[in-house]
Amino acid sequence: MPMPGGFSAIRALSRSLFEKCFADFLRVYRVLPSWLKRSTLKVFFCLALLATTEVLSLLSISFLAVSIAAPERLLGLGAVARLFNLFPQLKEFFADPRLLALAASLSVAGLIAAKNALSALVNVKAAQLDTRVALFAGETVFRQYLHSPYTAHLAGDSRIMFQALGWRGQLGTMFRTLILVYVYAAISLVLFAALFVATPGTLLLIMTVVMATGAGVYKAVKGKTDVAGRRAAEYGRRENQVSLNAMSGLRETLIYRQQRTFFSSFRQVCLDCLADRTFLDVAPSITMWTLESVGFLLIPSTLGVMYLLQDASMARITGTLTMIMLVSWRVLPMLNRAMLSLVVVRGLRHAALDCLGQVQAALDDPAPEPPEPDPHFALRRGISFKGVSFRYPKASGDSLSELDFFIPCGGRVGIIGPSGAGKSTVALILSGLARPTGGAVLADGRELGPAALEAYRLRVGYVPQSPYIMAGSLAENVAFSQWGKPWDEERVRRACRMAELDVAFERGLDMPIGGNGAGLSGGQAQRLSIARALYAGPSVLILDEATSALDTGVEAAIMKTIFALPQSITTIIIAHRLSTVERCDTLIRIEKGRLVETGPPALLLPRYQAWLEASFPPSAEGSATPAS
Ligand code: ADP
Ligand code: MG
Repeated sequence: MPMPGGFSAIRALSRSLFEKCFADFLRVYRVLPSWLKRSTLKVFFCLALLATTEVLSLLSISFLAVSIAAPERLLGLGAVARLFNLFPQLKEFFADPRLLALAASLSVAGLIAAKNALSALVNVKAAQLDTRVALFAGETVFRQYLHSPYTAHLAGDSRIMFQALGWRGQLGTMFRTLILVYVYAAISLVLFAALFVATPGTLLLIMTVVMATGAGVYKAVKGKTDVAGRRAAEYGRRENQVSLNAMSGLRETLIYRQQRTFFSSFRQVCLDCLADRTFLDVAPSITMWTLESVGFLLIPSTLGVMYLLQDASMARITGTLTMIMLVSWRVLPMLNRAMLSLVVVRGLRHAALDCLGQVQAALDDPAPEPPEPDPHFALRRGISFKGVSFRYPKASGDSLSELDFFIPCGGRVGIIGPSGAGKSTVALILSGLARPTGGAVLADGRELGPAALEAYRLRVGYVPQSPYIMAGSLAENVAFSQWGKPWDEERVRRACRMAELDVAFERGLDMPIGGNGAGLSGGQAQRLSIARALYAGPSVLILDEATSALDTGVEAAIMKTIFALPQSITTIIIAHRLSTVERCDTLIRIEKGRLVETGPPALLLPRYQAWLEASFPPSAEGSATPAS
């Protein structure tokens, strides 16, 4: 390799090391809490100790070789002479070269053992640091995820946070690897320096050749590694997407016979990234192959130079050659590990910095922990909507516009309107999960402050359109509002009875349920969701099409229970079948997010029915009512 090229490669390598990597390191270091910063510095300190023992053990090996091949050269060293002046007994003792060799070999064994013990310690500490950084990142993002307002989740922010949560491991590993890059690079440099001090002159040129070769290979490999790393990450995402789609939509895949499409796109993605993955796998080794070949070529070259140009003695040649062999045996792998770590960092960077961005955002603008519920909160008269408007995040228009109505405490209120009218959005605001973007919701005529809102939410039982069922026992699911605490068996039974949840009695409260409600029919899942709301003993119960998956008989039975609930429970019913809301005290009819009218069912239902028939005339086959 031409020397100017070699130097420019060394410059590029040092720029990578001292600008890009250092900036990445600092970016992570800055966001860490002080105790993790201290751990990082401790790891660095241990690594510096390790580097020192590494150098000492290497030098001791070289002493061992010289003590065997040319003991008189070792005894002639200035430092040794001074030592002997201090302790004359040592001089007598080491007069026997066999004892000198024994002492040298003992020091080698001791230093190597110390180095390995330290190395084990450092590895454990570094692995702990890696995991703790990942834990810190995970905790920070997860806390933000859990404390962000519900509207942030609707805006899709939670998806980004969730992905960042998955990448916390990459962040930890990148941080650890960055530290290792510096340590390996430092050890290599120190070893080179030590060898240079021990045998100056000839080695300078040789070291420069080795460094330039390493840097040159790195320079040649790095651009392609970046591209391959980015592409491999992208392919990984696509691969996941394809397999996840096929997994979550297996039923549709089988019905619409899409197996072949999924399989061939999966195969195609895997094949597409074959070349990039192969390159990423092989790239780090390219440096090793080159450096090792160059390293061992140094032995005959040096021998030749020392013999031909310097006519050096065998003793000097032995000393120098030992050094070079040590370079090839110990320093090159170190240099190689530094390069390998650099390549690993480049591969992890994309995902790790993405996660770091979310950690940074969470630290800069932390979602406040919800306040303790106001213990003095009471709801006695009712809830009123005063000019309530609501626009979903990122939506172009309002989903609710200036709604005005009053729901008295203990009232049974039905909300009717066609699909997309805004009924579920009203339920969302009534539940306290989202706050209006215009107007206000008043409880007993007062706006709810944060602590009162928490207290209000505790009184709400909410049965959404698609129930959430978690993996666990049936009782744990019913007693979700007391999750983590022992559930009250009698209360669970009562809630199940009220919700007509027969499986609870047929298969027992301990019946295991899989995630996504595996093991339950759609109707049973919905009844479980109702039982959960009733278990919480709500004073406001919101049923958002909660019985639409049930057959008419079961729905009628549940509604009978709901209407028989104590008068203290305010019930808001959004129902698909209009017969369900017939017994309500009041109906609120909305359309396109606006209030059409409110009034008793006897007045509103016939008018609404007529409107439905005019807007969605029954088809020739005489299908059922088109929309709720
Ligand atoms: P309904 O329950 O009456 O069928 P919704 O309250 O679910 O109607 O929806 C009312 C309007 O709000 C619809 O136009 C719907 O497209 C819109 N909408 C619902 N959810 C979201 C959301 N997460 N982001 C944006 N728009 C939404
Ligand atoms: Mg709805």
